[in-house]
Amino acid sequence: MRILLLIPPYIPSYFNAGHHLPLFQVATYIREKNPSWQVTALDGGTLNLTWHDLAKELAKGYNFIGLFNDFDAVDGFGRTVMYCREILPQVKMFTFGRLSKQVPDWFKQFGFEGIAFSGDYESSVESFLLNYGPNTGSIPGLIVKTPEGYLQGNAGHMLSPEEWILPDTLEIPYAAYDRMYKNDLNKFCGIPDRRELVIPVARGCPVGCEFCDVPSMQGKSERRLSVDRVIKYITDQQQIQPFDYISFYAPTFTLNRRWVKELCHKFIELKLPVKWKCVTTIYHLNEELIALMAQAGCIRISLGVETISVSKNLQLPRIKLNTEAKIQELLAIAKHNGIEINAFIILGLPGDTMEASIKTIEWLIAEGARVRPTVYTPYNELHEGSSLAEVGKYNRQIFHETPQSPMERLKGYSLLFANDKDRPTEVMKK
Ligand code: SF4
Repeated sequence: MRILLLIPPYIPSYFNAGHHLPLFQVATYIREKNPSWQVTALDGGTLNLTWHDLAKELAKGYNFIGLFNDFDAVDGFGRTVMYCREILPQVKMFTFGRLSKQVPDWFKQFGFEGIAFSGDYESSVESFLLNYGPNTGSIPGLIVKTPEGYLQGNAGHMLSPEEWILPDTLEIPYAAYDRMYKNDLNKFCGIPDRRELVIPVARGCPVGCEFCDVPSMQGKSERRLSVDRVIKYITDQQQIQPFDYISFYAPTFTLNRRWVKELCHKFIELKLPVKWKCVTTIYHLNEELIALMAQAGCIRISLGVETISVSKNLQLPRIKLNTEAKIQELLAIAKHNGIEINAFIILGLPGDTMEASIKTIEWLIAEGARVRPTVYTPYNELHEGSSLAEVGKYNRQIFHETPQSPMERLKGYSLLFANDKDRPTEVMKK
């Protein structure tokens, strides 16, 4: 059985290699568990694949094609499905990804045989490939096409971390990823001129920010790989190809402090010559931890700051409110330890003002932080009838309803795309 897992060609508005990684992780998982399957993973979502290239890939012949969906990646879905059905009339198609977890019914317009809506991607993709056929009944985690119409299965299966299989990095188009990260002022998540190894160490987050899709997608309880598996993966990958730094892909990396300390102590003990970065919240950091992380090679901590506004109308979790003093303290500690703080800011948060966002960003830049502003996303407003253009707004670059004032929106776009007070990172010098 020949299977193609594909991110179709599209023009990205943002790039984070970690967001593309499930394609390779799923491919590695189903390949290892089903050795007779021939599985190809192709990431065409980094300005690296023409429609002609895609047609040539399809002409190799596939029985199943799975399209990985995200808020940008669906731009090319209609044309990709047309190419697939035209060149491979017998092919069965399915989709999995962030967007089909939010609005699975939206994907019925493309006529997919399977739409993954629940559970971990690995288990829903494998279930579809094992079970889809002429007399298909319901399949957990999927909506499947039957002669009687679409049939929704029960909730999908969440894997334990012991079941995760880390991706085969030889399939990843790193040269294309390097190009995406070249201009730091695009505010993409990698470091210019440095090759990144992304390691997906955890899934799920209990914090519950209303604008975030992690809890609904990966669960409210965190699952995490063992430290030993992470270290083995790093040492294995270092022998396969060189990397300049590691990006630990975890929704809230320091949520489990005991784990982070264990990792850092092992890095120090083994004298692993690795630089790394991670994402967390202000609440989940302190001086002792930052110092240890620096000693173990951490060069950047991305922080979900969101805003320093003190408005009473903000709809943020308690741990993200009134944080200015704490951020100031963390900035000083990070600076002392040679770590760059990359502050995630959300523009258009309900209850916030653009003046507060401008103040937040100017203050953070003046304090030496890198800032990465994005736009508030009201996922609850997505629905089956949303247009492609509306779905495209969930790429966090274009405002939704808030702010309502045209002047506020213009100020926001100026902050996002024309902030002449901003400067590129220098973290690559570390
Ligand atoms: S802390 Fe981060 S990952 Fe967790 S819910 Fe909030 S934004 Fe999402």
